[in-house]
Amino acid sequence: MLCFMKQRCRPGWLASLALTVTLGLTGCAVSPTGERTLLLNSSTQMNELGSQSFEQMKEKIPIETDARTNRYVECVSDAIVMQVPRKYGYAPQDWELVVFKDKAVNAFALPGGKIGVYTGMLQVANTQHQLASVIGHEVAHVLAQHSNARMSQQQLTQLGIVATSIALADRVDTKTQQAAVMALGLGAQYGILLPYSRKHESEADMLGQELMAQAGFDPREAVTLWQKMAQKGGAAPPELLSTHPAPGTRIRQLDSQVSKYMPLYQQALAAGRKPDCDRLRPR
Ligand SMILES: [Zn+2]
Repeated sequence: MLCFMKQRCRPGWLASLALTVTLGLTGCAVSPTGERTLLLNSSTQMNELGSQSFEQMKEKIPIETDARTNRYVECVSDAIVMQVPRKYGYAPQDWELVVFKDKAVNAFALPGGKIGVYTGMLQVANTQHQLASVIGHEVAHVLAQHSNARMSQQQLTQLGIVATSIALADRVDTKTQQAAVMALGLGAQYGILLPYSRKHESEADMLGQELMAQAGFDPREAVTLWQKMAQKGGAAPPELLSTHPAPGTRIRQLDSQVSKYMPLYQQALAAGRKPDCDRLRPR
C-alpha cells in the first residue's frame, strides 16, 4: 500500500518502508548451497544470543553426568567439528557440547558453537553413524546461519505488520484494523516462514551429510536415522520432528545424495579417519 499525493501520508509508515528497503539492501548474503539469504543481525549478536540461551538451558535441564555417555557423544561430536571448513569462522576448540539427561528425542546447535544432545536421542540414533548424522545436521544449521535468517525474516514480517497497522490507522476502526493485522500475521507465518524453514532443513541435511561423510561416518545411516524418526511419529512424535518436518521429502533427498557422499566417506576411511566411538565399551 503506497501513499498518494491527495492522501495523508503518515511519517511512521514512510520511515518503516525506508527501513525495510535499507535493511533489505544491506543484509543480503549467500548461503552455503548458493541461496540468497537475508541476514539482519551480526554474527556477534547471534553468538551472544546462542551463548545466553545455552546457559539458560544448562540451568534448567539436568546435565548427564555418566562419563561413558559423555565421552561417547563427545567422540562423535569432535569428529564432526574437526571437519568444519575454516571459512565458517569456527575452530574445533570453539565448540561446546552438553549432553542433557532428558528423555526427549532431541538435539540442537546454536550460534556461537553450542551443541546440545538429549539422552533420549541416543535411544533412537543408536549407532555412532546415526548420532553423527544428527550432530552434523545441527552443526550445519549453525554454519549456514539459519537462526539469523529465520530471525531476520520474522523481524521483517513484524516490521511489515507494524507498517500496515500504521497505514490503516486513520481509515478503519480499531477492530477491523486488529483483524487485518492478525490475518497478515497468520498469512506471513504460513506463507513465508514455513517454506523458508523447509529450505533450511534441506540445506542442513545436505551440508550435514557431507560433514559426516568427511568425518568418516557412513552417510547411508542418515537415511536410516530419518526412517526411524518417521516411524516414531504418530501419537507421540519425537521432539525433533516438531522443528524438523516432512520426513518423506527429507528421506528421499538424503537417499538421493548418498552416491555423492560415498566417495567422501571412502576417502576419509583411506585417510585414516575412522571414528570408533563405542558407547558401551568398558573403560
Ligand atoms: Zn534441522
